[in-house]
Amino acid sequence: LHTKAANRFFSETSSHISMLKHLTLKIKTTGPISVCEYMRDALTNPFLGYYVKNDPIGESGDFVTSPEMSQIFGELLGVWCISEWMAAGKSRVLQLVELGPGRGSLACDVLRVFSQLNPVLGETNVSVHLVEVSPKLTEVQVERLTGNQAHICDDRPFYLSGTTLSGFPIYWYRRLEDVPKGFSLYLAHEFFDALPIYKFERTEEGWREVLIDIDPDDHKKLRFVLSNGKTIASVLLTEKDESRQHVEVSPEAGIIVQKLGRRIAADGGAALIGDYGHDGTKTDTFRAFKDHKLHDVLEEPGMADLTADVDFSYLRKSAGNHVTCMGPITQQSFLKNMGIDFRMQVLLRNCTDDSTRTQLIHSYDMLMNPEKMGHRFQFFTVLNTSRLTPCEEKPVSPVAGFTELQMQ
Ligand code: SAH
Repeated sequence: LHTKAANRFFSETSSHISMLKHLTLKIKTTGPISVCEYMRDALTNPFLGYYVKNDPIGESGDFVTSPEMSQIFGELLGVWCISEWMAAGKSRVLQLVELGPGRGSLACDVLRVFSQLNPVLGETNVSVHLVEVSPKLTEVQVERLTGNQAHICDDRPFYLSGTTLSGFPIYWYRRLEDVPKGFSLYLAHEFFDALPIYKFERTEEGWREVLIDIDPDDHKKLRFVLSNGKTIASVLLTEKDESRQHVEVSPEAGIIVQKLGRRIAADGGAALIGDYGHDGTKTDTFRAFKDHKLHDVLEEPGMADLTADVDFSYLRKSAGNHVTCMGPITQQSFLKNMGIDFRMQVLLRNCTDDSTRTQLIHSYDMLMNPEKMGHRFQFFTVLNTSRLTPCEEKPVSPVAGFTELQMQ
């Protein structure tokens, strides 16, 4: 029966097809797709996704992140972790959990601080847990963090395990829910902006969802369309008191923060989220990057990074009432409060060659300048409520980074 057509169909759907072909076939089969479905497939489709096939971070990739820019960034986050662990009562077990660890640089720098502060950590049982979906980036992380000494695990919640070069046990997971329960410090840097969003536009008839369809003038192209009526997402994800004309919502981000909130409330710990974002004010932020330049979001899906600003007001709502949130505050303020200027002075004083000095000053400027990353990036934290509840034995200590550095 129609063997030729069937053969053609199956050869087209074989693993050789491009992401664009995959998406157009999907739209032809089931109709226009949500931006969320598009973004999820383009970024994390297990065969064709951008993060699955590429190592996109760094000069040779599509974008550079703060931890890649300077070791100071990760070191200060390492100090933040130790400071929060101490302020929360120095639990005997400490899980460092990172969501979307990229090339592993942040974890490397944080763990170096842990090693240097070994006398402070004492007998604490420290372990490292990475949540990562990209096989390509996992490879880089294994090499950076363990010197390529990790073992594949098929029958466990983690898919890889090993020991870091600094001697801590380390595990890789695809989902946060697989990470064991226990006191944890969660880090997520440029993770939430990669999670898929829905887009909605206000019309005279109410909220309509922005969908993606095939361009009728050019069947090899995609275009945005508005849903004819309400969609399940437009009903469930828009708020009655919303005043913006256009909103972006990432329920996946909300669910992950809700899970973080529940874990932190039950087992103690804190989450530190750093990303570009806003506090519920921005509208159309969905964009693509390729070769360090802005790119059309609908062109070459799977070949470009897709991203949307993180809505911190949505994360705050999703975290729940059993935890306390602080922020967002700008990266400039956060790093200043964490003592970046003192750290810079030490590094500059110890620096003997001109090119390293120039590099240090350049990366400081990238991280701190309000026109560069200083104001575009924000920090937000989710804390166990007891952390800020005064009690008789112990006054409340300031949360590192979110209150001005206390000079002792
Ligand atoms: N934190 C790193 C990398 C940021 S890029 C840095 O700042 O340099 C985004 C990271 O999140 C990548 O490691 C990517 O593979 C991972 N990622 C994207 N979507 C994910 C998902 N749904 N679950 C787990 N990891 C994801």
